[in-house]
Amino acid sequence: MFDALYLEQAGQTATLRKLPENALPDEEVTVRVHWSGLNYKDALAITGRGPVVRAWPMVPGIDFAGVVERSSSPDFTVGQQVMLNGWGVGEKHWGGLAQKASVPGAWLLPLPQGLDARQVLALGTAGFTAMLCVQALVREGVEPASGPVLVTGATGGVGSVAVMLLARLGYEVVAVTGRLEEQPYLQRLGASEVLARSHFEMPSRPLEKARWAGAVDVVGGQVLASVCASMKPQGVVTACGLAGGMAFPATVAPFILRGVTLVGIDSVMCPKEVRQDMWDRLALLVNRDLLAEMTRVIPLSGAVAAATDLLDGKIKGRVVVEVP
Ligand code: NAP
Repeated sequence: MFDALYLEQAGQTATLRKLPENALPDEEVTVRVHWSGLNYKDALAITGRGPVVRAWPMVPGIDFAGVVERSSSPDFTVGQQVMLNGWGVGEKHWGGLAQKASVPGAWLLPLPQGLDARQVLALGTAGFTAMLCVQALVREGVEPASGPVLVTGATGGVGSVAVMLLARLGYEVVAVTGRLEEQPYLQRLGASEVLARSHFEMPSRPLEKARWAGAVDVVGGQVLASVCASMKPQGVVTACGLAGGMAFPATVAPFILRGVTLVGIDSVMCPKEVRQDMWDRLALLVNRDLLAEMTRVIPLSGAVAAATDLLDGKIKGRVVVEVP
């Protein structure tokens, strides 16, 4: 038997269950999970508040790290430390908020050099996505000398890691938050200025004052539209989230009059070579002390309460689940 968070059907809240070993999907590699993450998507799945899960019953958990317990994959041996994020795990395939997970070998990666399993999950899908956003800005030509880079939803998981990475790379980072009382936290991560989210929540004109060379947006909705309207000429916006809504009430003005680029970020089906590269970059860039400061560790039994807190905006940084 093994412990797992379990979702029987749509609209339900997950419950902690003991499941028999033969309930696990019959995949190439069985992993004894030691660390799992609590991401925005996990919170939606666990609470039943968002249509994340697409097969039932489901064990949620879109990322995990642990040790190989059984393997028929030539790439992984028993006892090896492995990690996984994405590939629809926790959405279409049983995920990592459990003591065991069984997945195809092609979805697993060895731990990146220099990060332990706990640090990997402290970053988790959120940190990985922040790295994808930062790398997209670099690829599209945004340099520290280009001007300030905006990060929305800055106290959240993706936002906190994005602020930390951009500051580490020498960018001037302006953090946007609904929690101005967290200004000292955001400054410790490397933000040079902190702005209230409310400035971006009002309907914007097609073009506002040109201020930002780059942006990482996790909020979507009106905030993303306002960010696009206030980009400098040739500015680059990476859009990865919808914490504020799925709509995009914008005009084409920033794109056709200022040459702004909007880059979409998808961490789920990102190719394996890119994943490996992003994790290697994270291992080089991440400040371990700041990562520890932004991370709260909870037990599997605390995941349901933490998921509600996360959706209610009561959590800053990252939540990591230690699986006994
Ligand atoms: P998180 O830790 O909950 O952070 C989200 C942040 O957004 C919150 O901390 C809050 O920051 C802000 N926020 C929350 N509710 C809001 C609202 N109603 N209106 C405006 N802002 C709001 O979540 P996360 O794990 O960082 O994920 C953030 C977003 O990115 C989610 O939408 C998630 O689905 C998405 N995501 C996408 C990918 C991908 O592959 N594209 C991967 C990972 C995450 P402040 O209080 O500081 O404003």
